Amino acid sequence: MSKPQPQQQTPPFPNKYHVKLVSSSDSKACIICYKPSTTVLLADGNGDFFYVCPGHLLDEQFASPIHPQEYSDLISSQKELTDKKAKLEKDLEMEKPYIWNTVAGYWKDKKEKGEETKYDKLKKELGEVTKGLEDKTKSVNGYKFKLYKLHQDIYKGRIMAHQKKVYSVQRATKIQQEGFFPSVPSHNLE
Ligand SMILES: [Zn+2]
Repeated sequence: MSKPQPQQQTPPFPNKYHVKLVSSSDSKACIICYKPSTTVLLADGNGDFFYVCPGHLLDEQFASPIHPQEYSDLISSQKELTDKKAKLEKDLEMEKPYIWNTVAGYWKDKKEKGEETKYDKLKKELGEVTKGLEDKTKSVNGYKFKLYKLHQDIYKGRIMAHQKKVYSVQRATKIQQEGFFPSVPSHNLE
């Protein structure tokens, strides 16, 4: 026999699940609501997997996405643009009284020369930044995460289910082994 296993401290699989999709003909019941689902969560290293509706992945009581660098970069550029937009809006507000106080002639003169006023420039820039921010926000909101971490309780449940399965397999193997139960006498039975 193999040497005794040391007490296992590390979990049988990490709390790091890849999102996989199967074809609709391969859909199976979601572990939460039992509706057929084509989304599979597969533990890193393939130690565990289960089917789940993609909607449950939005519930933090079930799982949270693990943010890849690409997503963190999106978030920081979204923040940058948000700050830039706020600053431009403030600058534009500051420019406004200037316009109203400007001598009409000066204003008209600038316009006729086709020169951009500071206000025009800021307004244009704000338009560009706003558009950029909208695009970034769209990318952030529509971001498809490929890795999830299960909520601690759900993860514990997965480990328990795994251990139960391992135990029942071991038990079934033991029962099949000769001598685990006294053998049934093959004679003297009524
Ligand atoms: Zn479901």
